[in-house]
Amino acid sequence: TAEIIDGRAVAQQVREEVAKGVAELVAAGGTAPGLATVLIGDDPASEVYVRSKRRACVAAGMVDLHRHLPGDVPQHEAAALLDELAADPAVSGILLQLPTPGHLDAEALLTRIPAEKDVDGLTTANAGLLAQGRPGLRPCTPSGVIELLDRHGVPLSGAHAVVIGRSVLVGKPMAQLLLERNATVTICHSRTRDLAAECRRADVLVVAAGIPSLVGADAVKPGATVIDVGIHRGEHGLTGDVQYDAVAEVAGTITPVPGGVGPMTIAMLLANTLTAARVQQSTGRR
Ligand code: NAD
Repeated sequence: TAEIIDGRAVAQQVREEVAKGVAELVAAGGTAPGLATVLIGDDPASEVYVRSKRRACVAAGMVDLHRHLPGDVPQHEAAALLDELAADPAVSGILLQLPTPGHLDAEALLTRIPAEKDVDGLTTANAGLLAQGRPGLRPCTPSGVIELLDRHGVPLSGAHAVVIGRSVLVGKPMAQLLLERNATVTICHSRTRDLAAECRRADVLVVAAGIPSLVGADAVKPGATVIDVGIHRGEHGLTGDVQYDAVAEVAGTITPVPGGVGPMTIAMLLANTLTAARVQQSTGRR
C-alpha cells in the first residue's frame, strides 16, 4: 500500500522554519512581519478560517493586524480600508477573506491589494507574474502541494502531472507551478471526455475538483503520487475528492484528508508573509 504524506508534520516544519526566519529578521534589526486579515461580515466558516490564520501568525512571531468590517459595509469603505492597509508600513501582508458578502465586488476589492502585500497570491498582478514565470507571491494551496511533493522527494522534472480542476484558486495555479518545475502537465476539468484515461497517465495526480470520491483506483497508475486537495464535511468527518482506501492500494504515495494538503495552506500563508516582509524591508519600503 501507498506511503502516506503527513501534511500536518510538513506544515509544522514549515511553520517552525518561518518562526526561525521571523526571529532572524528581527535580530538583524528588521521589524516583525505584520499580517492584516480582513473579514467582512459574520460567516461562521470564514470566522473559523480567519481565527486559525491569526493564531498561526502570532505563533510564528508575527504581528496580528486583523480588521473586521460589518457585513453591510459599502464598497467604498471596504476599498478605503484596503487602501489604508496598503499604505501602512507595519502591514507586510493583506488577506481579504473570501467569499465577501454578495453586495460587494470582490474582484474590485482585490485590486486594491498591492502585489507585494498579496500573501494569498490571488490578485491579477500575481497571477500574471506566475503565468509569465516571474518571481511573485504564489497562491497558498497549490504552493503547499509543491512543498509536500518536494519534501517527499517526488521528482517533477519530466514527470507527467495531471491536475483535475482549473479554478483560479487551485487548479490553474497548480498546473502553472508544476509547469514551472518542468513537469509535463495535463489539465482536466468538468468537460474532460475520459477523465480516468487522462488520470491513468499521471505520475503525479493532483485532484481539486470539489467532487466527493471523484477519483477511484481505476484512474490511478500503479505507483503514482496522488494529492487530494478536496475537502468535504460529511457525517463521518472530512473527506476528499479521492476514494482513499481503494486508491491507497494502487498509488505509491498519497495524501490523506484530513491531514494532507489542508494544513499546508496556512503554513504557506505564513511563508508568503515572511517573504513579503523580507522583500519590503530589503527594498527599504518600510
Ligand atoms: P471550484 O469549484 O472553483 O473548481 C472546481 C474545478 O473542478 C473546476 O475547474 C471544474 O472544471 C472541475 N471539475 C468539476 N467537476 C469535475 C468533474 N466531474 N471532473 C473533472 N473536473 C471537474 O473549486 P476549488 O476552489 O478549486 O476547490 C476544489 C476543492 O478543493 C474543493 O473541495 C475545496 O473545498 C478544496 N480546497 C481545499 C483547500 C485546502 O486548503 N486544502 C483550499 C482550497 C480549496
